[in-house]
Amino acid sequence: MSLPLHLRNIHLPLGDQRTGRLYGKDVLSVAQFTRDDLEYIFGVAEAMRNMVAHIGTFDLLKGKILVNLFYEPSTRTSSSFAAAMERLGGSVIQINDVKYSSVAKGESLPDTIRTLESYADVTVLRHPETGSAAIAAQYGRKPIINAGDGTGEHPTQALLDLFTIREELGTIDGLTVTMLGDLKYGRTVHSLAKLLTLFEVRLNYVSPGILRMPAALVAQLEAKGRRQAQYDSLEPVMAETDVLYVTRVQKERFEDLNEYEAVKGAFVITPEIMQQLRPKMALMHPLPRVGEIAPEVDNDPRAAYFRQMEYGLYVRMALLAMVLGKA
Ligand code: ASP
Repeated sequence: MSLPLHLRNIHLPLGDQRTGRLYGKDVLSVAQFTRDDLEYIFGVAEAMRNMVAHIGTFDLLKGKILVNLFYEPSTRTSSSFAAAMERLGGSVIQINDVKYSSVAKGESLPDTIRTLESYADVTVLRHPETGSAAIAAQYGRKPIINAGDGTGEHPTQALLDLFTIREELGTIDGLTVTMLGDLKYGRTVHSLAKLLTLFEVRLNYVSPGILRMPAALVAQLEAKGRRQAQYDSLEPVMAETDVLYVTRVQKERFEDLNEYEAVKGAFVITPEIMQQLRPKMALMHPLPRVGEIAPEVDNDPRAAYFRQMEYGLYVRMALLAMVLGKA
């Protein structure tokens, strides 16, 4: 595909790449990625960023159709996948209120997937059950991208989180990453912690006692030789933290709402806390925030969460181009 004249001196690894490493594949878990894959994805994401900055849209995926199938609420994931597809010249079937689809008539996930992929080339799926994306992939013939399966994983968020760390701090190896908040139900921290095992990082987990990182996940990372430590307050790790990854307490996962009420305001990042953190560090959050980061922190140069969501667009553009054999 020929590039517009003013882009010809920018290296874009784009075009027909049917031997590409993600071509035709599902994106279900971060466990499928190697460090090499990440370097490649991030290279394509950089190219996408450049392309958006220079020309806005580019017909790389012209004629391709994405289904955005969301059984749970979403703002960023759903709209960034839609924007990614449209910036690459493709189009989107958006199903974000399944009560208006045949799901409300009792249609199963496998049948819904089989139906939608007969009209489209790739499906992005968010579903409340852990393992649902893997089930969808068993029945689907075309690529399924897991956009969050219950408390399980959110692999594309972890990719954009890593891309953010790299962009903000220039490196990933050698960093201390502190995850704070709901580490039990938060799928973003589950995926990010697993993905970080590919790097030399130290992990701190700060949470109320009832929201600790699942023991099985901690054991899995331990077996890979990762240094992890658990705390119930942020103080002991403030001075060593390079990335503070804050999460929302996941109200919708609690069986007992009294338990949610007891822990919901446990941690709030304020300007006073920012003063005690390193001058060079990144404050991240997958968003939405519901009080964990005070709005007064937003103008701090270390507050990376709004840039983080923009990086998500470029990473999702890269993933779509790769699974559809164009990068
Ligand atoms: N948006 C993220 C997710 O879907 C984080 C959150 O909802 O708290 O997991």
